[in-house]
Amino acid sequence: MLDQNSTSREIRENKPKIAILGIGAIEQHGRHLRIATDWSQVRAISQAVAQELDARELDALLLPAIPYSMSECHGLMPGVVYLKPQTLSEVVMDIARSVRELGIPLMLILNGHGGNFILEPTIEKLNREYPDFQIIMPPEVWAPAEGGEAIFESFGAGIHAEEMETSMQLYLAPEYVGDEQVDVIPEVGREFLDYTVMKKISPDGIWGLPKLGKAEKGEKAILSSAKSIVAFVQKAQEVLR
Ligand SMILES: [Zn+2]
Repeated sequence: MLDQNSTSREIRENKPKIAILGIGAIEQHGRHLRIATDWSQVRAISQAVAQELDARELDALLLPAIPYSMSECHGLMPGVVYLKPQTLSEVVMDIARSVRELGIPLMLILNGHGGNFILEPTIEKLNREYPDFQIIMPPEVWAPAEGGEAIFESFGAGIHAEEMETSMQLYLAPEYVGDEQVDVIPEVGREFLDYTVMKKISPDGIWGLPKLGKAEKGEKAILSSAKSIVAFVQKAQEVLR
């Protein structure tokens, strides 16, 4: 697998067929999870996907994941560092153009943060601009089931610092998971994050049931998500050939 530890020469000689770009976020995750939660998760899944693709001889170049994205919906809660939608769009466009100039025909974007609505139109624009280059992004990065069996008890009820994220952090970096876990299910839908800030909906900044988090669920989610993303890449290659 090629990544930021590879040399320029190694990249030239190995001619990667796909570049992988994860997009994280730096934002509050309640009292119990670190601000780098989304970034750490998207790095883990991007690495798992790159390894799976390598095993299938689709040599991948794993790019460093972007730490920041559209976290403005968290308002002024400490630890929130965000990009404006247009900035994120420009960053993704510049990275995509660089990848294309390297001669890599395909770029996979893995979006590790829920609110990045600017990505779809950005990808559409790039795909129309460069017919010799393809960008794809699975609509969902996280698979809630493994072999048809649900991994999480509260999937769908939570969106932030909840059972799934707490499980993944317990698996990836338990030393950073705190004990002060508060279960919160707001009375409104996630569209309210377009109308106001997280703090007004959930003062602790949690949306879901973190107390149900378990490391084994996090491990399963990462492995089964990697498998379903690889299946998505293969399907896209068949259809877009
Ligand atoms: Zn998160």
